[in-house]
Amino acid sequence: MAGTIHHKVTIIGSGPAGYAAAVYGARAMLEPAIIAGLQPGGQLTITTEVENYPGFPMIMGPELMEHFKEHALKFGTGFYEDVIIDVDFSRHPFLMKGSGGVAYTADSVIIATGAQARWLGLPSEARFKGFGVSACATCDGFFYRGKQVMVVGGGNTAVEEALFLTKFASKVILVHRRDSLRAEKILQRRLFDNEKVDILWDTTLEEVLGTDSPTAVTAARLKNVKTGEISDRDVQGIFIAVGHKPATEVFRGHVKMNEGGYIETAHDSTATSVPGVFAAGDVSDETYRQAVTAAGLGCMSALEAERWLAEQAAEMSVSDAA
Ligand code: NDP
Repeated sequence: MAGTIHHKVTIIGSGPAGYAAAVYGARAMLEPAIIAGLQPGGQLTITTEVENYPGFPMIMGPELMEHFKEHALKFGTGFYEDVIIDVDFSRHPFLMKGSGGVAYTADSVIIATGAQARWLGLPSEARFKGFGVSACATCDGFFYRGKQVMVVGGGNTAVEEALFLTKFASKVILVHRRDSLRAEKILQRRLFDNEKVDILWDTTLEEVLGTDSPTAVTAARLKNVKTGEISDRDVQGIFIAVGHKPATEVFRGHVKMNEGGYIETAHDSTATSVPGVFAAGDVSDETYRQAVTAAGLGCMSALEAERWLAEQAAEMSVSDAA
């Protein structure tokens, strides 16, 4: 049912940044609320093993996010399974509209909506999306037991997806546009040591080939960027892992962003172009994009929101006394 829900601090997004902001906000008595978004728990809920979150030598991504959630709720964070579809930061309290018609108002807002997988933008990629083309090996890898699959990309995501797929597929072909990977060295070593993996360097995916009825992928058309040679490789699944883009569409025109759509924040701060609105995690961090840095930025944003609200209250009491 539609209505208006007010919190001192509303956090949009429920990844590591959002939950860390909630823990600090709740302990500062800011009565924060989290609006969970389309993918509650964020990107870590679609990964498998996480080995670089300090304090957890190995933990499954979804389990780590359960710990984050439990920790935030323990201190009284409000939690709404809703998606923000519009905001108005030109008025105060700030206004955010949920997809079900609920209006959320807040004295301060923390944007922690994270990032989403990018696609290559090929027409054939769109045609076979969900029918052999995927951006989530954890979600779809199981369907490729005993089959040949391809992963496109050279970052941590591509290498982790390729390694994960070796559990099911008979062969995993990693296609990368350059002659070296940008993934962590430890992941690269595991990839190079895995006999099920073939790597095609200096190669791009030009077209996904397949059939219409049933809609299915049968091969990948590839181009060697050095020689220009075009070749086809038989594969039944193609996983695209060419980076992420910030989930900021709903904030366009409301806070300043850079050309890549990342929210601009002040130096050494999570403050956005709108006083009282803060941004933390992958939504504003183009450089590090790690769960631990996102959590750190979430903490910063709550501390900054607390300070900003205290300053506003102090200004109000001075003007009331005058
Ligand atoms: P990255 O930006 O790190 O890597 C994207 C890869 O895709 C690059 O190798 C890039 O090539 C390639 N690429 C980009 N555009 C194209 C294109 N149009 N055609 C072909 N290839 C393309 O993104 P990730 O999603 O891998 O990682 C995002 C962030 O999340 C990183 O900071 C990463 O470290 C982090 N992460 C950490 C994990 C962990 O620590 N366990 C797991 C997963 C992600 P090129 O190298 O030539 O630029």
